[in-house]
Amino acid sequence: MSRKAIAGIAASSGIAIAKAFRLESPELNVNKTVITDPAAEIARFEQAIATSISDLEIIKEHIHKQLGEEQAAIFAAHLLVLSDPELIHPIKEKITFEQVNAEFALNEVSSKFIDLFESMEDAYMRERADDIRDVTKRVLSHLLHVNSTDLKTITEEVIIVAKDLAPSDTAQLNRQFVKGFTTDNGGRTSHSAIMARSMELPAVVGTKRGTTRIQHGDIIIIDGIDGKVIVNPTAQTMKVYKEKKLAYEAKKAEWAQLIHQPTTSTDGHFVELAANIGTPEDVKSALENGAEGIGLYRTEFLYMGRDTFPTEEEQFEAYKTVLEHMKGKPVIVRTLDIGGDKELPYLSLPQEKNPFLGFCAIRFSLSMQDMFRTQLRALLRASTYGHLKIMFPMIATLSEFRQAKTILLEEKDKLQAEGIEVAEQIDIGIMVEIPSTAIMADLFAKEVDFFSIGTNDLIQYTLAADRLNESVAYLYQPYHPALLRLIKHVIDAAHKEGKWVGMCGEMAGDELAIPILLALGLDEFSMSATSILKARSQILHLSKADWSKHIEHILSMSTAEEVSAFIKRQH
Ligand code: PEP
Ligand code: MG
Repeated sequence: MSRKAIAGIAASSGIAIAKAFRLESPELNVNKTVITDPAAEIARFEQAIATSISDLEIIKEHIHKQLGEEQAAIFAAHLLVLSDPELIHPIKEKITFEQVNAEFALNEVSSKFIDLFESMEDAYMRERADDIRDVTKRVLSHLLHVNSTDLKTITEEVIIVAKDLAPSDTAQLNRQFVKGFTTDNGGRTSHSAIMARSMELPAVVGTKRGTTRIQHGDIIIIDGIDGKVIVNPTAQTMKVYKEKKLAYEAKKAEWAQLIHQPTTSTDGHFVELAANIGTPEDVKSALENGAEGIGLYRTEFLYMGRDTFPTEEEQFEAYKTVLEHMKGKPVIVRTLDIGGDKELPYLSLPQEKNPFLGFCAIRFSLSMQDMFRTQLRALLRASTYGHLKIMFPMIATLSEFRQAKTILLEEKDKLQAEGIEVAEQIDIGIMVEIPSTAIMADLFAKEVDFFSIGTNDLIQYTLAADRLNESVAYLYQPYHPALLRLIKHVIDAAHKEGKWVGMCGEMAGDELAIPILLALGLDEFSMSATSILKARSQILHLSKADWSKHIEHILSMSTAEEVSAFIKRQH
């Protein structure tokens, strides 16, 4: 049907058709060469500086509009570096007197400044080293003609094609122009994929070699429904995909009728459908997609795309906004879950060999207590503006939960002693995403108010398959009976203690998993906002009682393939 269809993982539904925009993570290899015309070399250098200044002006303007003055300041600092004669002058001298190429001169001079700033005591001065490093990379990429273009400089409709896309890159995508993306790396639960779903951007990830087959400027089709990328389609293929796009949009319009409908199975069992969000702006889409609550607010995005921790006030405003807009519907805010594929560059923590098994999430919060307490205070202060529930990520032991809860209650007491109002009742729950916690769910259930099963991580830890590594994607099996048994154990343990259980991993919105989760008695399904209406339409046609009859049989199966084949047969 098509000249070249590249298979990948369907990460975010929908069809996008546009020009490919190759986003390179450039290899900036700098070699020393002797030049004969220093004046021409200096002109080349000045041109690269001018282009970099123009990039930065665009970025600064954009960030200023989207995120405000404070965030734009990073780029203002970069612009200052580019106009600093103390840096620029020695580079030109080097080109003139040593007759070396501009790349080499720039690299040498800026390395000296970076070393100098890095050795300073003062944290502010040390950060200047990062500014120089970033700016140097930018100018070098122009000198070397490596396309490391900033996402912000895109001004026509494109589809991003990259080896990898960090969540911070995804956060910067301008939805007006970027129509979709495809990456060589990543899986359905990598955070860029999750963000794509909340941004309603069709995406195909894990193509392994997409970047070797797609040229900058090729016309490509992203089929986020079936996980395919088509390069330079024939007229016939184009026609087929335009029709597929229309059909998908028609389906969406049909689901839109269900926005205000409760989610009840054919035999009258009610479940709650909630949305996962990353920023206060996502609340709009959550409500437009019929969310009955926020099942997971990933607060780490508040901490990203900036160069310091957010203040208590900034966080308070964000939490208050979400709570107010949700008008009394439950909002589960998860405390900072940094680590894995979510890094904070300004923390400069040492690189870890196994970031998903490392110093992250609650481990980090319990050790950086000032930061943790700031977040908790902001949350507690916001609690009077709606229906707040607080959740801790990556709990592996009861002792971690107890410590986190103690700190939370200490901050609550302090605020009340200061005369600041805090909501009477705030449920405190945990993510169940580590097998030790799932296995010990009976004991946790006595102490927590609720569980939310984080299958994105629970799958990777249960099957020991990195959620970002496409080479082991075949082991990342949501329908593996081992995982289903764990989920059943968690739900049963919670219900025995009269506690409710949600799921905020991507599996909660998975068409094949939904009948099993319904039958197992999951109380709340939280997913990308854009999956909610489809899930609702599915549950409205399912009978919990009928599916419950199959549970014993399904849990006794030996492979994920058997499970998925069985479910498909029932449809
Ligand atoms: C999960 O692990 O399932 C989860 C929801 O958290 P995150 O994807 O942010 O790790
Ligand atoms: Mg997780």
